[in-house]
Amino acid sequence: GTTLRVHGGSGAGYTQRNATGESDGLLRAALVALVRNSELDGMRATVRQVEDRFNRNYGYPYIFLNDEDFTEEFKRGIRAMTSAPVHFGKLPKEHWGLSPYVTEEKVKEALERNKDRYMYGGSYSYRLMCRYQSGFIHKHPLLKDLDYYWRIEPDVDYFCDIPYDPFRFMRNNNLTYGYNISPLEFAETVETLWDTTRKWMIENPHHLPEKSLIHWVVNEKAEYTRCHFWSNFEIVDLSLYRSAAYESYFQHLDRAGGFFYERWGDAPVHSFAAALLLRKEQIHWFEDIGYSHPGITHCPDKPEMAARCVCGDGVPYMYGRSLCKRRFGEVGDIYRSQALELAHM
Ligand code: GDP
Ligand code: MN
Repeated sequence: GTTLRVHGGSGAGYTQRNATGESDGLLRAALVALVRNSELDGMRATVRQVEDRFNRNYGYPYIFLNDEDFTEEFKRGIRAMTSAPVHFGKLPKEHWGLSPYVTEEKVKEALERNKDRYMYGGSYSYRLMCRYQSGFIHKHPLLKDLDYYWRIEPDVDYFCDIPYDPFRFMRNNNLTYGYNISPLEFAETVETLWDTTRKWMIENPHHLPEKSLIHWVVNEKAEYTRCHFWSNFEIVDLSLYRSAAYESYFQHLDRAGGFFYERWGDAPVHSFAAALLLRKEQIHWFEDIGYSHPGITHCPDKPEMAARCVCGDGVPYMYGRSLCKRRFGEVGDIYRSQALELAHM
């Protein structure tokens, strides 16, 4: 199709380095959502905003994934929102289901035990979703040729004009993980996640890089901070999830059963992986992309960023002032030997 491309866009305050002098075409990247047919209205609302704020100037493809077949109504409703290529895919059966390492009996007990303890505590499908987005989404055949994905969800808001290409920004600045909101995880949902993670570190020191930002998720006393990147928005260099280290980590977590016996989310899992496997300079806070997911809003207050945003009613929650965002600003990388000391503590 005909796509209008914007050249030389520059995010407020950022340099759009293009040292290699490559042309300004599209990267191998897409907007990706796992979504249900019943969420058509919310998905249309999101796509409308993503198009208006950003993608109508670029034409990056969309990929929609579902454990069921998408209805014709869903496909029509989405396609009406954009002239960019849109792909609809079904999940391979073996990616959506009970982990082979847990028993149905014990999962039932866990759902019963947790159903009133926290949100989705009794939901089986929510756990399938979290396990899928942790271990399998990057393996979907439709994502095979992608270098980057930008995760989107139904019923989120994008408040600000995005006058540059975040994928290219990632690439030009050697970034691997981009996030927007970083809250505290509910302790009840991840009771043994850090303990399981530290075992993986101890068994797999060869998978740990020389330096990493582990101190964002684990404090000096080797306690889990529960800080995590909210993965309903994430822009990621998929080589992270395709790495041998990540696969080993996911397999280790899956074997421990916590996706089902607890309610490990893909957000804390992705966050542990990013903090364990990346240096701080590879992780970027997209402060300028005003964003809201039911529950939390980030709306920039720096004047040059805020000038491009309309943040809806009420006082926006400034994510920049939150505990985990502050921690992200304060902590630095530590060496593998120090990371292993933490794991042993
Ligand atoms: P929350 O953000 O943690 O409250 O969870 P959501 O309900 O928003 O789910 C996260 C994402 O997974 C959303 O994009 C949902 O549309 C999608 N999702 C959740 N459960 C299912 C499911 O059973 N099937 C499919 N196809 N998508 C799902
Ligand atoms: Mn959601």
